[in-house]
Amino acid sequence: MANAKDNPFAVLFEPMAIGPVTARNRFFQVPHCTGLGHANPQAEVALRATKAEGGWGVVCTQEVEIHPSSDISPYPEGRLWDDADIPAHRAMTDAVHEHNSLAGIELVHNGQHAANLATRIPPIAPTHRPVDLYHPLQARAMDKHDIKQFRQWHVNAAKRSRQAGYDIVYVYAGHNMAMLMHFLLPRYNDRSDEYGGNVVNRARLLKETLSDVRDAVGGDCGVALRLAVDELMGDGGLQANDEGSEIVSLLADIPDLWDVNISGWDNDSATARFEPDEGYQEQYTAFVKKLVSKPVVGVGRFTSPTGMVSQINRGVLDFIGAARPSIADPFLPNKILAGELESIRECIGCNICVSSDNVIAPIRCTQNPTMGEEWRRGWHPEVSPKSEKPEQVLIVGAGPSGLECALQLLRRGHNVLLAEAELDVGGRLLHESQLPGLASYRRVRDYRQQQLSVLQEVDVLLDNRLSANDVLETEIEHVIIATGAHWRHDGLGRQHPQGIRINDSAMPVFTADDIYAGKKLPENVLVYDDDHYYLAGVLAESLHQSGHTVTLVTPANCISAWTDHTLEQHKIQARLLNLGVNIVTAHELHLIGEKTVTHACVYSQKLTQVESDGVVMVTSRTPDDSLFAELQNTHSSGETHFKTLQRIGDCLAPSTVAAAVYSGHLAARELGADDTKKLLFKRESVQFMM
Ligand code: ADP
Ligand code: SF4
Repeated sequence: MANAKDNPFAVLFEPMAIGPVTARNRFFQVPHCTGLGHANPQAEVALRATKAEGGWGVVCTQEVEIHPSSDISPYPEGRLWDDADIPAHRAMTDAVHEHNSLAGIELVHNGQHAANLATRIPPIAPTHRPVDLYHPLQARAMDKHDIKQFRQWHVNAAKRSRQAGYDIVYVYAGHNMAMLMHFLLPRYNDRSDEYGGNVVNRARLLKETLSDVRDAVGGDCGVALRLAVDELMGDGGLQANDEGSEIVSLLADIPDLWDVNISGWDNDSATARFEPDEGYQEQYTAFVKKLVSKPVVGVGRFTSPTGMVSQINRGVLDFIGAARPSIADPFLPNKILAGELESIRECIGCNICVSSDNVIAPIRCTQNPTMGEEWRRGWHPEVSPKSEKPEQVLIVGAGPSGLECALQLLRRGHNVLLAEAELDVGGRLLHESQLPGLASYRRVRDYRQQQLSVLQEVDVLLDNRLSANDVLETEIEHVIIATGAHWRHDGLGRQHPQGIRINDSAMPVFTADDIYAGKKLPENVLVYDDDHYYLAGVLAESLHQSGHTVTLVTPANCISAWTDHTLEQHKIQARLLNLGVNIVTAHELHLIGEKTVTHACVYSQKLTQVESDGVVMVTSRTPDDSLFAELQNTHSSGETHFKTLQRIGDCLAPSTVAAAVYSGHLAARELGADDTKKLLFKRESVQFMM
């Protein structure tokens, strides 16, 4: 590995003290959820260990509940309720320490954000308030005894954290998800005692908790405060230039480290569609360093070392904080140290990682298919084990699945011929990255294209649409079909499992593929969204931008409904409403006529007719699997030389880009494996106590 002193980014590799402990560099993996947590502790350990191996000087947990009255079931975050939880944490700190990194723990009491669905303890809050989400539950106001207990729970958890080997202990008041933040906000705190009223009173519990934790473990551990300094709500919420800075001044020298960000989670983890620029939080958080003498860490989807150095040199931050960039590339620091900048897998800001936590599933990442698979499949983000028997493999189609498959097969020592019908590689990414806000999606293609370009053992044939005969003529024995999918015109989807009625004389119906192919659309169009992810909303935005009158109809109760999991839904709906796109929710298409479209309310079936000149159908896709089917027929009749023939990605089952990349990766890892010995993956099982 290169010497840090010769590195143009040397400042990033300087050791930095955090109270009594010292981080080996300025790369700081801030707390982030994984959908693993207490439910999958070994997976959690392996994930964090991989970050430490990749060079992150500090590696933190996700939020860790300190007490059963902060139970955010069914979401599996971290847990440190009692001593029984210590061993899982000890495993994490040991693994992180093996790589000379520091381990940090983010202690939390979620207050009214925790419905306590598993423990059934009535939730607690600064004042009587309904709990978050639409659970029919209220949190009760804390009395003085509760406040005393709350402080003691923090002290207990801090001591257990030290016992578990943590170097940094967090007190957490961010994301609108933590009791200590709720106390700060007048909209949640209308107490009339010394914990309510003016800002000094509202910050009292935070100050006391920080001091308690310092007294308990401060001699051994760095004490960090994670604080949201602005909620981006104007004077309806906390603002950096108002109480945000007052609170920072009040607490300035108590923590050893300030971890500052913006709230809620949708603002902190903004997608590239809504915050395209790296360092987008600087405008809100830069003031903190001017008010405190302790080191400051902040985030902003940092992937460029030049941008990181600029943050340090301009005195904005002391540590480069990252959650998503460390998920997309756990080896980002080591790559910068080695000067291998072109090999950084840059986060695309899609929030598929975030969606995993929201749907209560193990984490996944569009750019990094090994994320979350470190323990259960033993996958490493940078190393694919060499094959004992190098083979020649033909991959047909160079979209995300074909590209990832080719790259991993090459890393395993195989020879690859990659054929692509178009003039460039990238498949759907080439088109989707042209749509408003999705430019960063091209990084999925660019990283793989760049990595392939430096490898000798790959032949990429562009502008080559292979037929079954072409494939057979290559005489290559391993064939992988990655030919993708196309959008359906007939409206078949969740709401219409058999398609939609379209009159013979109906207005033209288009799909995204028609738009990519440059077909001219009429002025007045209706976009129908029964897909519920981003595409219909983005197409509506794009069509509006190019001068069309757009109506967006969906059977769901809101547009792009699934993007709630990527923290974008409300932003998408707001943007389209503000643009003047006509939005019709809870309606399905009933009939497409010559000059009108009839849609029906999904509840009352009441019909409404609207004028339109064309429909853009975004409902479902059909795999482009005819090549596979033809080859399979020949193969089953015994007329081919194939040892293996398989399909991957959208050609197998249309899905997200993340699923396509994963599918390509899996196929490459498993090529040559004995089918009977293929293990799905290791499982963490509950131990019965006798
Ligand atoms: P995925 O997401 O599964 O990777 P994409 O649709 O993004 O799927 O990419 C599929 C790629 O396969 C496209 O770039 C397409 O041009 C290419 N392709 C489709 N059929 C053929 C074929 N017969 N020969 C070569 N390339 C093909
Ligand atoms: Fe970045 Fe998307 Fe990966 Fe999350 S899933 S780390 S946002 S590329």
